[in-house]
Amino acid sequence: MSELNQILELVIEGLKMPVSYILNSEKRIFYVYLISSVALAYYVYRNSKKDYSFFKYLFDKRTWLSRSAWVDYGLVFFNGLVKVFLLAPYLIFGLYLSFWVNEFLIDLFSYPTFSLSKTQTLILFTIAITIIGDFATYLVHWTMHKVPVLWEFHKVHHSATTLNPITQYRIHPVELILNNIKGILVFGITTGVFDYLSNHQIEKILFLGANVFSFVFMFWGANLRHSSVKLKYFNFLEYIFISPFQHQIHHSNKPEHYDKNIGAKLAIWDWMFGTLVRSENVDKIEYGLGEVEDKKLGNLWQNLIQPFAGVFNIVKSKF
Ligand SMILES: [Zn+2]
Ligand SMILES: [Zn+2]
Repeated sequence: MSELNQILELVIEGLKMPVSYILNSEKRIFYVYLISSVALAYYVYRNSKKDYSFFKYLFDKRTWLSRSAWVDYGLVFFNGLVKVFLLAPYLIFGLYLSFWVNEFLIDLFSYPTFSLSKTQTLILFTIAITIIGDFATYLVHWTMHKVPVLWEFHKVHHSATTLNPITQYRIHPVELILNNIKGILVFGITTGVFDYLSNHQIEKILFLGANVFSFVFMFWGANLRHSSVKLKYFNFLEYIFISPFQHQIHHSNKPEHYDKNIGAKLAIWDWMFGTLVRSENVDKIEYGLGEVEDKKLGNLWQNLIQPFAGVFNIVKSKF
């Protein structure tokens, strides 16, 4: 009987996690974002005049049960393990780093003669972490496209031939580790600077939950970026924010779309560095790396192992 209870407890714990995600405004599957995603998808469905039902449009077997989608699900599971066992113990470095940055600034300039108020800190910190974080994401993503050794790992995200919201997490564990290092650096440095400027106010506001910018981003279809819902924004807005369709163009297998729309939330970096493509200039797209490459990265193991073989070949060709 007690064993049964234990199993039951485990099941309940396991169920609690996704349920708590649904109620957590920082998660993409927060119920408000799910509802807004479906509403936006319905708007696109109505305008595209499909001859099949909305249900089929949302839950097309070819999208959710394709060979490519199974690789996505496999990688989510594998990366979950990497997160728990390899990355979680190091996330605390973000806090250490902010402490060191704060100490460093005090050593360099001594204590500041002014201090930001609580409201000023909240507003400026939210703006700073959004812009710095988004630019850092652009830079890391750009580097992954342009440095051949890193491209071998980033190819895993681009070998998807169908897109569903889970494809967001289809990344090689090496990329997951690099993204986490970037996250720790951005968080640690920005927090340290604001801790210095606000006389430690930052400690109290850090854990207030999702900031207003990520709320807006998630609300306007973050879940649809990896999907077959071609949601475009107004043309002028696509210079400022990356629309779901613009990210789908990033996944296009046409050479003219390679290394374009690299941004995450903001399109301004792509605009500044000449990598922006707006939806109005693109019609039909197919996803992936082209037939030959897609074949090489067709299943989970190929996606995990092949990048190392690719790196080996690049290194070998240099000697
Ligand atoms: Zn990419
Ligand atoms: Zn993507």
